[in-house]
Amino acid sequence: MNPLRILILTALLYILYRLLTGGKRRLRKGAYQGSGRHDVLVEDPVCKVCVPKQQAVSLQEAGKTIYFCSDECREKFIARKGE
Ligand SMILES: [Zn+2]
Repeated sequence: MNPLRILILTALLYILYRLLTGGKRRLRKGAYQGSGRHDVLVEDPVCKVCVPKQQAVSLQEAGKTIYFCSDECREKFIARKGE
């Protein structure tokens, strides 16, 4: 194979790679920012993990709802406040 062909092939592969990765990123961003069709992610203030709202453990506090990944984290949060 001549060197020019290898160069062109490499360039084409690079372009294809960029198209594929760029496209995926845009798709993912749209999915999260989209309407209520996808589950909303909420951050657990104790362990900083993002959990889907539907699966989160909630706590009502001062008119606000705080979400946790598990009962364990909710207990920790309550315990910390009591200190
Ligand atoms: Zn947690």
